[in-house]
Amino acid sequence: DELISQIAAGEVVERPASVVRELVDNALDAGARQVTVRLLAGGVRLIAVEDDGGGIPRDELPVALRRHATSKIADLHDLETVATMGFRGEALAAIASVSEASILSRPAGQESAYLLDARSGELRPAARNQGTTVEVKELFFSTPARRKFLKTDATELAHCIEAVRRHALARPDVGFAIWHEGKLVEQWRAAAADGTDAEAALARRLSDVLGDGFVEKSVTVDHWSGAVHVTGRAGIPDAARSRPDHQFCYVNGRFVRDKVLTHAARAAYEDVLHGNRQPVYALYVEIDPARVDVNVHPTKIEVRFRDSREVHQAVRHAIENALAAPRA
Ligand code: ADP
Ligand code: MG
Repeated sequence: DELISQIAAGEVVERPASVVRELVDNALDAGARQVTVRLLAGGVRLIAVEDDGGGIPRDELPVALRRHATSKIADLHDLETVATMGFRGEALAAIASVSEASILSRPAGQESAYLLDARSGELRPAARNQGTTVEVKELFFSTPARRKFLKTDATELAHCIEAVRRHALARPDVGFAIWHEGKLVEQWRAAAADGTDAEAALARRLSDVLGDGFVEKSVTVDHWSGAVHVTGRAGIPDAARSRPDHQFCYVNGRFVRDKVLTHAARAAYEDVLHGNRQPVYALYVEIDPARVDVNVHPTKIEVRFRDSREVHQAVRHAIENALAAPRA
């Protein structure tokens, strides 16, 4: 089973950023309002993700580390229309098989927190408020061949920050902080739970994460095309600010890299602005989950649409309309 987990890890865990992505995923699944990521040496020495979510009861801690122990798939129908962020039930097991991992957690109503050391299996009481901290140390320590493929700490750190950024742009209602070597490197505050409308909350999160210039130099996207709803913001191209890594696409709340979406966006920019600059955007596609397959690849970054023309048209029209609309 250890070997199977290590093979699974090869699919799921490529570098520290993969671990960050999965752990933040779990924190969000657990209903966290605040997620704090602490890193040492670009995440290679340490990745700790702290949340204030629902926590894991003492007796379920060992279960969380077992493959396919997920409680997130209720039945087969659920598998097809999976709506939560995580669903494979093997991320923690895979990560623990290539690192020194521990889970510290306290659900509401439990008299104390418990700490589970993955390697030794030791479970003991510890101190913590409600929520969970997963610590992952010495990634790939037992697989030096994998460790050799890692880049410099600065590069691995940049990938870790990017992984958090992708989650942060999907969840303006959650606060995020990233610490590296004891220094706060990024902090994005949660939108107020009351009052703030979703569009304003998103605009603020976008300017916090991508820089103030993004919101000033972008327009609101909000377009229905059949059963596909596309929202977000599209940048007015500006050579000084456009960066190819500022293209974020989400399908039903999940960050994706998808040729259909990027091609549609590019086509819209060419139609309206005739420019050859890199478009900048954050787009959120909402579509019937039965019309999209999110399980194409274990890293879940890719999707397959049942009808890619439908989605292509929806995105293209959404951006064209937004860019062509008179600006307020
Ligand atoms: P999945 O997320 O696909 O269910 P994981 O291996 O990522 O599988 O996590 C295994 C299980 O551990 C989850 O289903 C969840 O019950 C529990 N878990 C992991 N991280 C957290 C967390 N931060 N807060 C609460 N529960 C968690
Ligand atoms: Mg998960």
